[in-house]
Amino acid sequence: MINLYSDTQTRPSDAMRVAMAAAEVGDEQRREDPTVVALEERVAELLGQEAAVFLPSGTMCNAIAVRLYIRPGGDQMFLGENAHPLRFEAGGPAAISGAVLTVVPGAAGIFTADALRGALGAVSPGDRYAPRPRLVSVEQPTNVGGGRVWPVQQIVDVLDVAAEHGMHSHLDGARLMNAVVASGLSASAYAEPFDTAWIDFTKGLGAPVGACLAGSGDLIAEAWRYKQMWGGAMRQAGVIAAAGLYALDHHVDRLADDHANARRLADGLAAIDGIAIDPDSVETNIVVFDVADAPAFCAALEAEGVLMGPLGADRVRAVTHLDVDADGIERALAAAACAV
Ligand SMILES: *Cc1c(COP(=O)(O)O)cnc(C)c1O
Repeated sequence: MINLYSDTQTRPSDAMRVAMAAAEVGDEQRREDPTVVALEERVAELLGQEAAVFLPSGTMCNAIAVRLYIRPGGDQMFLGENAHPLRFEAGGPAAISGAVLTVVPGAAGIFTADALRGALGAVSPGDRYAPRPRLVSVEQPTNVGGGRVWPVQQIVDVLDVAAEHGMHSHLDGARLMNAVVASGLSASAYAEPFDTAWIDFTKGLGAPVGACLAGSGDLIAEAWRYKQMWGGAMRQAGVIAAAGLYALDHHVDRLADDHANARRLADGLAAIDGIAIDPDSVETNIVVFDVADAPAFCAALEAEGVLMGPLGADRVRAVTHLDVDADGIERALAAAACAV
């Protein structure tokens, strides 16, 4: 199988498993697991934040961050089109924190400062009528939007509007290291301006479990309360944190290969009749394209030994990662030409 369904489909490599087996461990809830502590310190530094907390998933990073800023009572969170918390977190921000979710329009999930102003409307301080603006969340790079990278100045402009309205800011950086490799900018250049930011180890970084949420010491201390409350506090988690450390050492630079493979896939797909894609839109490891019937296309691909995922009736997503090489991309293209 050529598995382009998602970069979450990677299996830990033999070398990663060796690092996991060798990890020093302790009780992470008591801060006695040196490998977890090392990973948290590493991520805090990487993201230009004071502190970080290791969590079982990126979804929990988002859930906890939302809870840090939002309480039931009409608090409002702004996010881009098709942002992960809107589509894939089981309604968590509303169910757990009572968030009023407002989508800020913008191509591929990337919005402008003016679009955020527009979505805020004419809300004035002390307004009794409008939901209370509390949080803006940026997904960098976008997921369903097709792996697009926010320009750093556009983030700064959006955060200026957020600050004008006294709002907090959160960076969903599930694939932030893909944006870093694609742009050549540092992770902290993107993450430092936010109140909280996180990265996932289970996407292109190729680890089996875990994500790290970073922020100020006070925010991360408060995040620990929710980690405990929601059952995210672990024990000898160094075994999985070691995979995250291994990934940061060995799987960041190689993301460039995934980006080259994604671009090669996009170029090949663009040449197939019945497939619509602008290859120049592919900046990282996610390839989104249109066909007449996405479920039928994906089923036909699967019969040819290639997995991709339908995003809707006529839209398909393919994601490159370390378990698919250039040869796999050629085989996927041959299968796509038959399946369409
Ligand atoms: C995958 C993903 C998440 C959730 O991460 P999990 O580790 O799968 O829970 C959140 N946001 C984005 C943009 C993602 O791609």
